[in-house]
Amino acid sequence: MTVPFLELGAAYHALKAEIDAAVSRTLDSGWYIGGPEVAAFEQAFATSVGAAHCVGVANGLDALHLALRALGIGPGDEVITASNSYIATLLAISMVGATPVLVEPDEHTHNLDPANIERAITPRTRAILPTHLYGQPADLDPMLEIAERHGLKLVEDAAQAHGARYKGQPVGAHGHVVCWSFYPSKNLGALGDAGAVTTNDPELADRIRTLGNYGSHKRYVNEVRGTNSRLDPVQAAVLGVKLRHLAEWNERRRATAAFYLERLAGTNLILPAVPEWADPCWHLFVVRSPERDHLQERLAEAGIQTLIHYPIPPHRQQAYADLGLGEGAFPIAERLASEVLSLPIGPHLAGEQAERVVEAVRQAAAQ
Ligand SMILES: *Cc1c(COP(=O)(O)O)cnc(C)c1O
Repeated sequence: MTVPFLELGAAYHALKAEIDAAVSRTLDSGWYIGGPEVAAFEQAFATSVGAAHCVGVANGLDALHLALRALGIGPGDEVITASNSYIATLLAISMVGATPVLVEPDEHTHNLDPANIERAITPRTRAILPTHLYGQPADLDPMLEIAERHGLKLVEDAAQAHGARYKGQPVGAHGHVVCWSFYPSKNLGALGDAGAVTTNDPELADRIRTLGNYGSHKRYVNEVRGTNSRLDPVQAAVLGVKLRHLAEWNERRRATAAFYLERLAGTNLILPAVPEWADPCWHLFVVRSPERDHLQERLAEAGIQTLIHYPIPPHRQQAYADLGLGEGAFPIAERLASEVLSLPIGPHLAGEQAERVVEAVRQAAAQ
């Protein structure tokens, strides 16, 4: 038996009739930019996360970039983010001309450690940008408190957090603006690129919508130099279907996570730590081992596909060589990058596949 990391085709086939009907309805409607499908999904998604507004955009990177730009963040400004985040988080900061200021994560939760934020604040700091990495909610309350005390914005990268809950509340309306990706492999994934922001601030929502529509409210009247970043109606229709199944599919991920946590306890692997206030949506199930490469090879031999999120921390990427941060600059991020391994946890992973993963991991970890 081989176990693929994630089967995207299975997600489509499970909902084929509903998705095909939604796509066909959109094609028949004659609305190919904006229109009722986009408005309906924005409304449904905002409601599902408890936010007043949702603005669809073209992808998750644009969600982050437009959110920062709409907040007026630009050259000379600094944005604090985690040293182990995905590169998109940093790229969005760079795209507006601001400087990413990296701080270490908590090594147990892999999320931006609130205890490290204050010493990174300077007179140029404008925002704190936590990522809810792997679908584990970041510790938002202390970040909101620090943001308020220093007059900063809290911008969340929720690209991996669809359906995650923080202290019982869905991620999506805690910070000033929350940024989403619907990249196909996310918990809520489109059949192509798509993204959104959610916020309770109507003016901010309007600014983001305007920026993504050529800086224009009224056709051919351009108030600012915007860009083109809109949610495609066909993708919105697909997302509307998948949103109705998100809770159920996240429950399956939770069941697999509970199974792994129980059956992998007692091995020499470090298992994900879940604070008592966190209800992760298990975008990824990430274990740690100092023998990670060996473990990954053994699992591959046993037919188990695993991935590494992420093998090189942003400050060690050539793209960020100009930050001048050498090896050792962020020891926690560097250690995590050398030890993390993501096990299969998609919503279509069968029970016997999860069993197979456990057996293979237990065998490999014993060697
Ligand atoms: C996927 C992802 C993004 C980017 O989303 P795209 O839709 O691919 O642009 C940003 N941040 C994180 C943490 C992600 O996982």
